[in-house]
Amino acid sequence: MDHRLLEIVACPVCNGKLYFNKEKQELICKSDALAYPVRDGIPVLLESEARSVTLDETN
Ligand SMILES: [Zn+2]
Repeated sequence: MDHRLLEIVACPVCNGKLYFNKEKQELICKSDALAYPVRDGIPVLLESEARSVTLDETN
């Protein structure tokens, strides 16, 4: 995934920074404990598409 893209993406819920999980291809918001999918290199920043993650997974 393009690193520049990572710098501009923010959580649509809290507007916070997202962390990219390479293994799972997800963008994770630690504040909301939500993981947004990345499909074909494009982050899907929709709360309805996000899944809840446990705090363990955000590390
Ligand atoms: Zn958030």
